Amino acid sequence: MIRLKLRPRPGMVCRQAVELVMDYVDGALSSAQRLRFERHLTACLDCPEYLAQTRAVITLAGSITPDDLTPRMRSELTGLYRRWLSDKS
Ligand SMILES: [Zn+2]
Repeated sequence: MIRLKLRPRPGMVCRQAVELVMDYVDGALSSAQRLRFERHLTACLDCPEYLAQTRAVITLAGSITPDDLTPRMRSELTGLYRRWLSDKS
């Protein structure tokens, strides 16, 4: 199963960024969205890690491409990150 090693670090900006991660991996973002997301990546310590792990999950999943990600996989990845961001314990 998918296991992400993520440290608690809530942040509004990251919440916005995570909404874009899957579409970014998919190449589904507009150029303006992609630029905004990449700008956040350069300023954030955690989102690049999340992006890398998202890509690693896709790679480890085998022969699938981002386009083959099921809606369930997408929601699970996004849900993991949302729970990480909201876990303040
Ligand atoms: Zn971030």
